[in-house]
Amino acid sequence: MKIKEITAFPVRIPHGDESEGKDRPAVIDFGDYFVDEQAFTSIYSKHHETTVIKIETDTGIVGWGEAQSPVSPRTTQVIIEDLVRPLIMGRDPFDIEAIWTRNFGAMRERGHPTGFYIDAIGGTDIALWDIVGKATGMPVHKLAGGRYRDKVKLYAGMGGTDPEKVADTAEEHVGYGYQALKLHLLLDAEGVAEIARAVRKRVGPKIMLMCDVHMRQSVTSATKLGRELEKLDFTWLESPLVPDDIPGAVALAESLDMAVAIGEWSRTRYEMREAFERRAYDIVMHDIARTGITEGHRIGTIADTYSIPVAPHVGGGGILSVASTVEYSASCSNFMIMEHSHHANSFKNAITAENYEPSNGYFEVTDKPGLGIEIDQSLVEKYVVS
Ligand SMILES: [Mg+2]
Repeated sequence: MKIKEITAFPVRIPHGDESEGKDRPAVIDFGDYFVDEQAFTSIYSKHHETTVIKIETDTGIVGWGEAQSPVSPRTTQVIIEDLVRPLIMGRDPFDIEAIWTRNFGAMRERGHPTGFYIDAIGGTDIALWDIVGKATGMPVHKLAGGRYRDKVKLYAGMGGTDPEKVADTAEEHVGYGYQALKLHLLLDAEGVAEIARAVRKRVGPKIMLMCDVHMRQSVTSATKLGRELEKLDFTWLESPLVPDDIPGAVALAESLDMAVAIGEWSRTRYEMREAFERRAYDIVMHDIARTGITEGHRIGTIADTYSIPVAPHVGGGGILSVASTVEYSASCSNFMIMEHSHHANSFKNAITAENYEPSNGYFEVTDKPGLGIEIDQSLVEKYVVS
């Protein structure tokens, strides 16, 4: 079998969601994009943006993948067309690891060991796994390590600034069947703790709670906040510091009893080696639509060597990000729990022939070949950014 064509579709799907984060601190508006006014944190789109990848073979089998592109999906498209396409044309899709290594090496010396380029080769890797699954009639998880579990446990994400409103949203999601919730709280440590108290009071002691503070804390404020969250039996404090502060993450992981979860921004084992060696991770949360399935498994295996659980990040990823993370999670020995956005899943499904949905807080692991999801190209084309 040979790769005959690769096509990247940069898509922008309008948001329909009103309940998972519209209530947030003040932002600076940049047209389709915005950033927080009070912190130097990530730029976000007002829409759902990502890059969908299609790989065609000479046998007629087609694979789909996603290179997560929460902003500027056209950047990823150009990388696929100008760099990845010539590197993979004519190759056998079964040479998945060899193709990843060739792709990674091609731009390593040029200073692209992370970011858009690695997202592009990660999305390509996902599409190749889909092809190999379809060619063998097997689900990806069976080929990428085997089935460790029959269903993949999810936590639902939500945000806000008003304690009672966030507690309302938390209660709503418990009503959908989620037993685990994560709060995205973009406030100072005192404001975060106040919302955390309101949510714990509302949902009771049995619901697993986590808190993501999106790099807004110092070691001192995160330590103080962590102590408050420990009293409320929160499972993890996520992304407390800027990504580069590995010594700070180590200090925090040592001083808190609760877990500190980081790593969504990292894409390869090379990038993560120091954090593993210094035990900066209590829980590692790499994102499969950034790492790809091949490198994602390598990172998961290293985590297992250090007795570190894996809680894959999905964040702004689209429906192929969700499906590839389910397949990865099913085949990851040290999997803990997977991120999910309950309401966002409906607009992510705008490109599927058949809705890909969890039920009662879990994705069932199926025997469908490949990623187990059907993409409708005419729907993808409808949302292409011109
Ligand atoms: Mg996060």
